[in-house]
Amino acid sequence: MESFNPEEALRMAKREFGEHGGVAPSLSRSSTFTVLEPRTMPEIFEGLKGPEKGGCYLYSRHFNPTVNVLARYLAAMEDTEFSLCTASGMAAISCALLQICKAGDHIVASDTVYGGTHALLESLLPQMGIRTTFVDIVDSAAVAAAMEKQTRLIYTEGIGNPTLKVADLPSLSTLAHDAGAWLVVDNTFSPLVLTPARLGADVVIHSLTKFINGASDLLGGVICADRDFIYRLMDLHTGRAMLLGPSMDPRAAFDVIQRIPHLPLRMQEHGRRAAAIAAALDDLGTPVIYPGLPSHPQQALLGSMANEGYGAGGILAIDCGTRQAAEQLLSILQNREAFGLIAVSLGYFDTLMSHSGSSTASEIAPEDQQRMGLSQGLVRMSIGYTGSLEQRIEQITRAVKEIGLSR
Ligand code: PLP
Repeated sequence: MESFNPEEALRMAKREFGEHGGVAPSLSRSSTFTVLEPRTMPEIFEGLKGPEKGGCYLYSRHFNPTVNVLARYLAAMEDTEFSLCTASGMAAISCALLQICKAGDHIVASDTVYGGTHALLESLLPQMGIRTTFVDIVDSAAVAAAMEKQTRLIYTEGIGNPTLKVADLPSLSTLAHDAGAWLVVDNTFSPLVLTPARLGADVVIHSLTKFINGASDLLGGVICADRDFIYRLMDLHTGRAMLLGPSMDPRAAFDVIQRIPHLPLRMQEHGRRAAAIAAALDDLGTPVIYPGLPSHPQQALLGSMANEGYGAGGILAIDCGTRQAAEQLLSILQNREAFGLIAVSLGYFDTLMSHSGSSTASEIAPEDQQRMGLSQGLVRMSIGYTGSLEQRIEQITRAVKEIGLSR
């Protein structure tokens, strides 16, 4: 696989300076924009003028200059032609799926996806005539068998939430394209680690709420794809983003723009610490799941797809066996050891920990949780980079020993 350096791609993206030579870009909060001549207005509506053609803006639900700067940086990072930022990750997922699929269409999706995405596919989209077959995404025969004439896309997370299954993106891309379908990948767990578009994905989605913003102080999402797809999302008559209106606020975009330059450093440190903590737990005999460990069934696969220098990501999971043991571990780690915080979400500078079955995967029925390999005792941890690594390893070692999760 040809190597790709996303940090270099970000550096090479045209840098946006602020008015008056500001090193920070300007924040353009206007919802609407004036034109010098009345004739310019219809030209914008006809698509003859726009942000990339004459620099003319119209209205911020369509395009906004600040949001567009963030979109350019994220497209560079994901090596796609263009991108569109949205108000949340779910807005990005729902708009992308609704743009590709219409009533009568079918989706093949990984059974291991974020609970909100699972609910969208299982409960809401069928009300619009769009069906989904859930499959074990690492079983390529099962994926192939689920494909139908009406299948418009295969949907997966690069590293699945919360079981950390790794999808074979090049094989899924071949399967999708051979059937005339698209491959749509949610890369929220693995920014910079994976560049799905280089592995055959047609559409790459992120919840910016997580690692990319990194401060747990705003919501955001992005759809990265070719220019044609992004312009279709913004079409005045049928564009799902234009008509459903989940536009990103320019103030949120500005904040994310200012955090993008240190995303590579943050991802390296999330990954370094997650790998060290996972290795320490593995040595103790604790049932730990981490895609960088030799015990992980897709460790080699991830290694073959990953960009160099970012490891296997910042998320690990511990299977405590029962929900009671999971809650005990969470309580000790937060309230006694101050190892991290009991909270959903991920990608924060502090460690965030949650019991997946009763929180971010609670939309998924217990029997489906079991089928997808989600243990009732699973604790997901997004490993932060505050405190010293040695101190964190000591804290988690004491906690797992206390609840009998070590040899
Ligand atoms: N994708 C993944 C993998 C997630 O974990 C989440 C939220 O936890 C989302 C998408 C949804 O993102 P948001 O909360 O920004 O809508």
